[in-house]
Parts: sequence; C-alpha cells; structure tokens
Amino acid sequence: MTVFLSRLRLPLRTLLRTCWCGLLRHLQRFVLALAATTLLFGASAHANSGYTQTRYPIVLVHGLFGFDSFLGVDYFYGIPSALSQDGARVFVAQVSAANSTEVRGEQLLKQVKNIMAITGASKVNLIGHSHGGPTIRYVAGVAPQLVASVTSIGGVNKGSRVADILRGVAPAGGLSEAVVNNAAKAFVALINLGSGGTSLPQTPTAALSSLSTAGSLDFNRRFPQALPTGCGSGAELVNGVRYYSWTGTLPLTNVLDISDGALSIMSLVFGEANDGLVSACSSRLGKHLGDYRQNHLDEVNQVVGLRDWFSVDPVTLYRQQANRLKLLGL
Ligand code: CA
Repeated sequence: MTVFLSRLRLPLRTLLRTCWCGLLRHLQRFVLALAATTLLFGASAHANSGYTQTRYPIVLVHGLFGFDSFLGVDYFYGIPSALSQDGARVFVAQVSAANSTEVRGEQLLKQVKNIMAITGASKVNLIGHSHGGPTIRYVAGVAPQLVASVTSIGGVNKGSRVADILRGVAPAGGLSEAVVNNAAKAFVALINLGSGGTSLPQTPTAALSSLSTAGSLDFNRRFPQALPTGCGSGAELVNGVRYYSWTGTLPLTNVLDISDGALSIMSLVFGEANDGLVSACSSRLGKHLGDYRQNHLDEVNQVVGLRDWFSVDPVTLYRQQANRLKLLGL
C-alpha cells in the first residue's frame, strides 16, 4: 500500500508541478500581455513628449469669423488638442466676432486675468489670427507684464484692402452703410447661431473701421510695439514681450474647400502677395517666421483641414511655435 502510494505520489507531484508551472506560465503571459497593453494604451492616451510644454498657458484668439465652434467644428481646427497632447495648457478665448480692436482687447484682457487666476500662471502666451493679431497686441500694449509672447498669424496689422473697400462703399450714416451693417450683422448672427449664440456685443462697422488701413494706422500710433517700418521683421523683444508672425500667401489652395472661391475673388483687390483677406506686408509683426502656401482660413486649418497637401501642415506651425516658446523658457 505504502509502495503504491509512494508510486502514486511521484506522478501526482509531477502532475501538480506540471499544472502549477503551466498555470504560472499562463499567469506570466497574462501579466506580460496586460503590461504591454497598459504601455500601449498609456502611450496613446498620454503621448506627452513635452514638445509643446510651454511654461505659460497658450491663449488662442479668433478673428472676425469669431466662432469658438461652428456646427461642431473648432475655429482653430484641431489645434488646441495638438498643442495640449504634448504638454501645453491651452485656452481658447471668446471675444466679440465683430467689434473694435479696443473692445475685443478689453474682453480678452479680462479673460487673460481669469486664466491666470485659474492656472496660477504669472503670464500667458497669446496667439491671434486675423483680427486676433491686433487684439493680442492691445493686451500686450496695455499690460505687458501679463504677456510672455505675442504671435500674430495672418494678422491685420496694417489694415486690409477688403475692409477699405467695404468701408468705401459704406459712407458714415448713409443708406448703404445701413445695408452693409445689416448684411454683416446677419452674417455674424449666422455664425453665432452655429456656435450656440453669444451675448457679446457685435458692431460690424466698428470692426471694419479697426480693420481698415486708416483705422489700423490710428491704432498703430498708439500701439507701435514690434511693427516693422517696411515689409520685413520688426523687433523681436519689446517691453519684455516676444513678438512673432507668419502668414499665408496663396488664396486658392484646395478646390474642394467652399471658402476658397470667396478668398480667391477677394485676393484680386490687393495687387500684392496676400492670403485672400490680408496682405503679406500687413501681417508682419516682430520676428517674421515665414510665408506659406495657405489662404486666410488655412491658417487656422479650415475648412476642416482642406488645404494644399504639398505645403506644411498648418497645425505643425503652431506646434513648432509652442516649442520655440518653450525653448525660450516662456
Ligand atoms: Ca482651406
């Protein structure tokens, strides 16, 4: 009996050891697979390389077509997420779509102070598109201590010929001004409808005045910081604030984009390099970073990223700028 049991114990031990080892092997494989899966998921969910990890928050400021989102599409299409996934803290400001630079600037200043209160940051990096260019210059002009950098993209820094023409056919107090004003208000109302509405005041004629050459010259007399006298670069550092700009110079970039036709038609009034709404020279501010194969809406990756596929991705330019600011300690 004893012999039988001892004989039996041996294969039983072997069997148990085999089962135990098999179980261990399975468990080991499971743990390894789980670890690999976690690493993979971790890599995709938290792919923070730190490339865009600026010291100060980035605040994006829209232009005349001032929707935070339109029918679910962001104004800065795909840009906030591209910046934040590699470390930047990004805020999208919401100011009046159509109003004077000063009114928009005061609205932005309040939001900048709120962002500083929320984040505890002592400054912000401002990035503005179109009328957002002069708007961020206003804040840097009145409160340079709150601003680390100003980046103007397709900025209307020396006026727009399109605004001149719209003002030219709309003399102050005349019937045509009322017609133009109502048409512009209807346009803004449509945009506001798409973005879920806003209580911010809209004054299209004030916006057009600010964006005209005469209005811009008046603004520039009061806020001359980093503006070049010609068509090159201006000063990069003024009152402790870094200034940069880039723009597009190709009005027609993608025939599938519904906005390209209008931009192409408007581009004909310039007689010089432009993006369909702003001339290349008007866009210059601080250190000029480049002219690209983009139109005015490609500059914010619209409409839904339809662009010239042979040119640099607009989103890449924002990421490179964030990295530039990061390397400067901003
Ligand atoms: Ca486009």
